[in-house]
Amino acid sequence: MKKILNFINGEYIESVQGLFLDNYEPATGIVYSQIADSDSADIEVAVQAASVAFTLWSKTSPEERCAIMLRIADGIERRLEEFALAETIDQGKPLWLSKVMDIPRAVQNFRFFATEIVHFSTSAHTDSGSLNYTKRSPIGVVGCISPWNLPLYLFTWKIAPALAAGNCVIAKPSELTPITASMLGEVCREAGLPSGVLNIVHGLGNKVGAALVEHPAVKAISFTGGTSTGAAIAQSAAPKFKKLSLELGGKNPNIVFADCNFEEAVVQSARAAFTNQGEICLCGSRIFIESSIYESFKKRFLEEVSKFTVGDPLDTKTKQGAIVAKVHFDKVMSYIELAKEEGGSILCGGKPFVPEGRCEKGWFIEPTVIEGLSYDCRTNQEEIFGPVVTLTPFDTEEEVLMMANSTKYGLASVVWTENVRKAHRVAEQLQAGIVWINCWLVRDLRTPFGGVKDSGVGREGGVEALRFFTEAKNVCIKY
Ligand code: NAD
Repeated sequence: MKKILNFINGEYIESVQGLFLDNYEPATGIVYSQIADSDSADIEVAVQAASVAFTLWSKTSPEERCAIMLRIADGIERRLEEFALAETIDQGKPLWLSKVMDIPRAVQNFRFFATEIVHFSTSAHTDSGSLNYTKRSPIGVVGCISPWNLPLYLFTWKIAPALAAGNCVIAKPSELTPITASMLGEVCREAGLPSGVLNIVHGLGNKVGAALVEHPAVKAISFTGGTSTGAAIAQSAAPKFKKLSLELGGKNPNIVFADCNFEEAVVQSARAAFTNQGEICLCGSRIFIESSIYESFKKRFLEEVSKFTVGDPLDTKTKQGAIVAKVHFDKVMSYIELAKEEGGSILCGGKPFVPEGRCEKGWFIEPTVIEGLSYDCRTNQEEIFGPVVTLTPFDTEEEVLMMANSTKYGLASVVWTENVRKAHRVAEQLQAGIVWINCWLVRDLRTPFGGVKDSGVGREGGVEALRFFTEAKNVCIKY
């Protein structure tokens, strides 16, 4: 069986203890590989390698780092088909989605930050008699911890700015989806990234992830994952005064006003609900519809949802693949049961899907639409992170803003209206780090990305990411 090893100091090696964890293919429910089950001893080895590498990497010019990172982007792109297949087998998402979204975005992440670093500038301030200039230097050894929903996409979204800024990285992908992260090591080696600059350590979050956060030589942690994990990481890192970037959970509202472009709102709301099995932190899982169009929207929305055919992720006709793990499958199903207990009516889905043949033991759930729930019940307040959405009518702007803002989360929100004044007014009042108007998941990598409230602390993307991964020093000269 394939063994996925740690990538430390440019070499693939077993964990110090020599232990392994099983890795499942979600579409079949079968163990298809094993991953290194690392702990603090492996973090120690990685820290040693990264600390040595930092001496030289931090002194390379932005142009040198740019050239290597562009070669990494090219290397992933050359192997796009191979990466996409690996991602789909490991994660359960449709193969076509890995090909058009996940892997191209990983390529784009490297290209974006490779070129951004050569344009990154600092500031200078003058007044009568003094000059201040601010120097930005790499931090040192940093930790990047990523989740399972967009494996290589989010892994590289953190690693690329960290490397571009001159840091050495110890990265931990999710134990549920380690394969493409492991393949990245080969590409980095071929692209000429010096040994020890990027180290990839596999294993459980509360074991090797926690050890990475705790290590005193790791000066910053960039984390994407669940809100409760983020809280545990903050608790461990704060007394050591580490820099922290936390991208956490969401329960995003999708607000449909009667004056929207109806057809576009229907089609895109279905996409925002069920893309990647609803396993995207940005998915619009609470759909609020103005009462006057509630029934007509519901009818057309259900027609659209019926096109989300569930099945083998390798089948080109499949629009929704498998749920990443049995434990997550059980969690999503328990929320569907909860919704029923809370008085919700299941308009479609609501049950597991059992494909014939190769995937009969996989973890699939039909796209599920629920109505008749109060905005403040648990189903509408807690993150489900699966193919489950609720429909809720509203009468006024004030009412929908109150319901939209009622959760502890504040990551993204979506608004559908053709009225430009209303669009700006509502965007202003939504408690979210990201507001999409008449679109969803349109991303410009230069923009700040992140959430408010329990959805996180700090922003990723563009110059924000380079600021996070550098330390500022102000120099003041009196003349
Ligand atoms: P998770 O918090 O369980 O795990 C995320 C990563 O953290 C994994 O690599 C895991 O091994 C590691 N980890 C777990 N416990 C740890 C600990 N104590 N110390 C250090 N590392 C630890 O999250 P998940 O289930 O993999 O991902 C789903 C969650 O991620 C959802 O809540 C989703 O909303 C969120 N998410 C947020 C964003 C965003 O940009 N805000 C993007 C994607 C996913």
